Amino acid sequence: MGSWHPECPERLDAIADHLLATGVLPQLIEREAPNAPPEAVTRVHAAHYVERLTQQVPAEGYYPIDPDTLMNPHTLAAAWRAAGAAVAAVDAVMGGDADTAFCAVRPPGHHAEPDKAMGFCFFNNVAIAARHALEAHGLSRVAVVDFDVHHGNGTEAALQGDDRILMCSFFQHPFYPFSGTRNPAPNMLNLPVSAYGDGGIVRPLVQDEWLPRLHAHRPQLILISAGFDAHREDDMGQLGLVEADYAWITEQIMAVAREHAQGRVVSCLEGGYALSALGRSVAAHIRALAGIG
Ligand SMILES: [Zn+2]
Repeated sequence: MGSWHPECPERLDAIADHLLATGVLPQLIEREAPNAPPEAVTRVHAAHYVERLTQQVPAEGYYPIDPDTLMNPHTLAAAWRAAGAAVAAVDAVMGGDADTAFCAVRPPGHHAEPDKAMGFCFFNNVAIAARHALEAHGLSRVAVVDFDVHHGNGTEAALQGDDRILMCSFFQHPFYPFSGTRNPAPNMLNLPVSAYGDGGIVRPLVQDEWLPRLHAHRPQLILISAGFDAHREDDMGQLGLVEADYAWITEQIMAVAREHAQGRVVSCLEGGYALSALGRSVAAHIRALAGIG
C-alpha cells in the first residue's frame, strides 16, 4: 500500500522468520494459497462490488479506496489468494488433511463489508470461510472469534442475523472503526474494552462471556480472526496483551473445539504491525493451535 504503510510485506517475513528460528516451522505442513472460487467470495460480497474492485485495479501506482486502503496492480490478486487460503484451510480441516490451520495472509479481511473495502481489507476472508463451511460442507453451526484490537465491522455486517454463526469478539473502544458498541443481532457478542486494558481485563471476558456462549452454540468448526495488534508493543492500538495472553486465548478456543468441533479450527491473520511482537505472538498462537509444547 506504499512504503509508509504499516500493512506491509515484512509482516509475513517477520512471522516466517520467527517460526523458522524457533523451530516451529519444520513441524508444520506448508501450503501455497489457491485463488478463492468466485462463488465462495460472492456468498459474502455483492457481485457488483467484486466487479468494481476489478475495474479499480491500477495498471501502475496506487488506487486509493480511502486514505488508508490502497490498491496496487497486485493487491486484488493477493486478496483472491487470501480468501482462497481461508477456503482451502476449511477444506483441509473438514477433509481431515489437517487438524487445524493458520492462514498467513495479506491483505487482512475483517473490516471488508459486503459492498465496501476499508481498513486495509478488500475481501472478508473469515466471513467467506464461514459461509463456505456452511454451504459447501453442509455444517449447521460455525463460530467466529475475533481478537484483533479493532472491531470486525465487516464480519459483523456480513454475518449478523445468520443464527448458524456465532461471532464473539473483544476490541478497543472507542477506536477505529467506532462500531460494535451494541449487538445488532443475537448472534453477535461484542465486548468493547477501554484503552490500556490488558490480559487481566481480557481473560475474564473470554472466560465469562465468550466461553458460555461458545459452548451453548456447539460450533462444528471455529474460525479465528487472528489480529495481533492488541499486543502491548503494537502502537496501532492501546491494549496491553502479550504472547502468553494469545496462547491462553487460543487454548480456550481449542478446548471448545475439542468438545464440539472435533478440534477443527481455522485461523486467519488480520492485524499486527509491530513486527517482532507479531512474530512472537503468531508463534505462541500456532503452538497452541498445533499442540506444540
Ligand atoms: Zn486491527
